[in-house]
Amino acid sequence: MRVGILGGGQLGRMIALAGYPLGVRCSVLDPVPNPCAGQVCGHLHGEFDDYQALYQLARESDVVTYEFENVPVESARWLSERVPVYPPPRALEVSQDRLSEKSFFAKLGVPTPPFAAVDTREQFDVALRDIGLPAVLKTRRFGYDGKGQVFLRTRQDADAAWGKLGGRPLILEGFVPFDRELSVIAVRGRGGDVVCYPLIENEHRDGILHRSIAPAGDLREELTERAQEHAARVLAELNYVGVLTIEWFQDGPRLLANEMAPRVHNSGHWTIEGAQTSQFENHLRAVCGWPLGRADAVGHSAMFNFIGSVPPTPEVLRHSASHLHTYGKGPRPGRKVGHVTLRAATADALAEKLPDWSRTFERKREAGA
Ligand code: AMP
Repeated sequence: MRVGILGGGQLGRMIALAGYPLGVRCSVLDPVPNPCAGQVCGHLHGEFDDYQALYQLARESDVVTYEFENVPVESARWLSERVPVYPPPRALEVSQDRLSEKSFFAKLGVPTPPFAAVDTREQFDVALRDIGLPAVLKTRRFGYDGKGQVFLRTRQDADAAWGKLGGRPLILEGFVPFDRELSVIAVRGRGGDVVCYPLIENEHRDGILHRSIAPAGDLREELTERAQEHAARVLAELNYVGVLTIEWFQDGPRLLANEMAPRVHNSGHWTIEGAQTSQFENHLRAVCGWPLGRADAVGHSAMFNFIGSVPPTPEVLRHSASHLHTYGKGPRPGRKVGHVTLRAATADALAEKLPDWSRTFERKREAGA
């Protein structure tokens, strides 16, 4: 089986690595000359709207997928007329725009923070009145890792927020005083079969994922069931194939959807060692039309991202529970360059080790960050 991947970053790299034992050969299309996935699989050099490169990818692939949600929808649609493309381009379209994403959730009965479209200063004032403060003003498109958003605490913040983001299509959201952030990773096969990983607890620093704990601790069964039910509804509505991630705010008994990613996700890296089948393997199984693997956790895992640089290997491996993943990327502030997953047999054992692991892998604040 030959799988083409739009995007050649670490997610593409880990999909390609998961393909080796299954006999899946991957190639990535990426505009940078030396994407990190290109170190472990084929690389076609081209922009995501370079139709010659897209044509070449279609010729070289039995199925095409993506690892990056800002691929132009037209490119995915054009490809899907030539080769099966999973997840369906409509999933890209919905998730590329925060307004269509939130409207989509609302239509399916998936709860979200209150939101309103903001295209003009007048709409901004009306939305602020309706939603109230605190609130978050975000660009509708191309926001990631907390970029393109401004938090508003008082009415006095409105002018500065508008000065920073005004003029682009925006969305105003009510600020959720969440207890914690969770994500659910679900996979749907070509035949409509669905498996879900346990809920994951995520901690962000400076807008970037710092740590994931899986399964999330102190979780009522009912919350997991609800998150998985919502995910199953989203998957069915989109006639989805592949891995889908939904990020949530937990506010007491409430679960509010923040966003979805139609791809494998950073909060699922722990599944490589911490689940019966990794998210990367299950994504390949789904898009190739093969049976899905079990998604239950094997023990309890903590995953820490390495941002900017990877600590010296012996420092990481000193912890005998460590599984180190480096992405073959040069150091650069703010860049995800690797991660480590540590596993314990029980929740209690994880809780006991976590302070030591957290001290070691605490994200060092970068100069200027
Ligand atoms: P996003 O890019 O939408 O995932 O937002 C990045 C981070 O900002 C989230 O992980 C939250 O920590 C925070 N955030 C975003 N939207 C809200 C909201 N409506 N209420 C509270 N915190 C938010």
